Amino acid sequence: MKIHYTGGKVSPKLVDDHDRCVALVRSIQSQHQKGNGWIDIGYTYAVCPHRHIFVGRGAHHLPAANGPGLNSGHYAVLALVGSSGLVKPPPLMLAGIWDAITYLRKHGGAGKEIKGHRDGYATECPGPWLTKWIAKGAPKPDLTPKPKPDPKPEPVPVPEPEPVPEPVPVPEVPAPEVEPVPECPGPDEGEPDDD
Ligand SMILES: [Zn+2]
Ligand SMILES: [Zn+2]
Repeated sequence: MKIHYTGGKVSPKLVDDHDRCVALVRSIQSQHQKGNGWIDIGYTYAVCPHRHIFVGRGAHHLPAANGPGLNSGHYAVLALVGSSGLVKPPPLMLAGIWDAITYLRKHGGAGKEIKGHRDGYATECPGPWLTKWIAKGAPKPDLTPKPKPDPKPEPVPVPEPEPVPEPVPVPEVPAPEVEPVPECPGPDEGEPDDD
């Protein structure tokens, strides 16, 4: 198994836009077909920052990207990082590389060895970051989300109970004594005017 990088500049915008991954793989494919005259992209698989695996030659086919002498014995997995721009593979990309390796070991007869392109061929590929990663034994990325520190729960104010109003005794109102209204004599029926 040989790991590769693109070599050129890879836009960091790739991380936020999978369409750019697709476009980049297409452009490498076309470069390999039209430029190199190969029947297809030279890599066995290409892996993007979203853990998407682009099938190049696939299992059981010779890749073309490793250089003479290495293609028959090694699959070629391309990581979509470059020598500038996006240079550090995000954890999901490393996971994707491992997906490809695992698949090729299970279904493609790949061996235990994981090496960089530069192991066996005069090239900078797969760049300093992946070279170090491979030297460390290509550790699988830890994808478990980091537990956030427990936020201190805000104290919820206990609402004060509304005071129950004391029942106000309704004073007994004695019925007013009704004074008899004197009968009002009509204006015509008044006492006769003395004048
Ligand atoms: Zn390479
Ligand atoms: Zn992608």
